[in-house]
Amino acid sequence: MSIIIKNVSKLYGKQKALDNVSFEIKSGEIVGFLGPNGAGKSTMMKIITGFIPPNEGEIFVNDYNVSENSLEVRKVVGYLPEHNPLYLDMYVKEYLGFVASLHIPKKGIKQRVKDIIQLTGLTIEQNKKIGALSKGYRQRTGLAQALIHDPDILILDEPTTGLDPNQIVEIRNLIGQIGKEKTVMLSTHIMQEVEAICNRVIIVDKGKIVADETPDSIKKTRSDKSMIVIVEFDREVKTELLSKIKGAVRAEHHKENIWLIQSEVNNDIRSNIFNFAVENKLAVLSMQKQEKSLEEVFKMLTS
Ligand code: ADP
Ligand code: MG
Repeated sequence: MSIIIKNVSKLYGKQKALDNVSFEIKSGEIVGFLGPNGAGKSTMMKIITGFIPPNEGEIFVNDYNVSENSLEVRKVVGYLPEHNPLYLDMYVKEYLGFVASLHIPKKGIKQRVKDIIQLTGLTIEQNKKIGALSKGYRQRTGLAQALIHDPDILILDEPTTGLDPNQIVEIRNLIGQIGKEKTVMLSTHIMQEVEAICNRVIIVDKGKIVADETPDSIKKTRSDKSMIVIVEFDREVKTELLSKIKGAVRAEHHKENIWLIQSEVNNDIRSNIFNFAVENKLAVLSMQKQEKSLEEVFKMLTS
């Protein structure tokens, strides 16, 4: 249950959508593939699933080379494409039966469809036309389709995009639950999604990987390097003066007598701020270290 990506590049005309990308996903991981629109997420997923070929590089899924053994790869991979393309005129059960017939012998279909409907919570909607379903149930149908052949690996392209907050939670829980027994790679441009379900995050920007860590460590290693301190003095100070604080790289007026001061990398400047205040006969009314949220780290890495 592993995915190996070796030096993959993809060009659309002259545009490089993926630029020499390499990474590995091991069995049991739930990996968030995170990046802004146009970063190359969908392109990577289409290449892994064998829908489009790369211009350079190799992809192995469970030791099968995708370009040589596309059929073997499709047997072990479940894929929910971006925008979840479905046949809107088909009934849920009928559609899943159709998808099942592409993968499994005829005699197993009925039971498999029944099981997958239950697993994905589609029981009450199973006799409706897909076009009549809410977006949340359409997404469940897309997931059911991806799971029908009980694949080891799930590739989900923006599985929660366009859902309302309740549906998002439901689908995330479902993915988390199913993901316990599978290897999952899901793309998203939402940071919280990664924090909610993934144990690893790969951040891509402009076709390149800019980070590959656990959600926790990315927050720690990236945000602790430079610190932002929110400080309130008892009176106004010139911002230029503040940027002279030892170890500070930037000062910005926030509001009233409050300033944001950013430190250089790996430098806790709080005592320097305090000394600066004493030297300039300022009183420090409050001082607080601002934790960077994963969201901010993401912005920093991809801007
Ligand atoms: P993401 O899924 O991260 O939003 P995509 O992989 O869809 O990014 O796209 C990466 C880049 O490649 C984008 O700039 C996009 O416009 C371009 N692109 C994607 N598919 C095609 C295509 N079929 N033809 C031309 N350009 C494409
Ligand atoms: Mg996409």
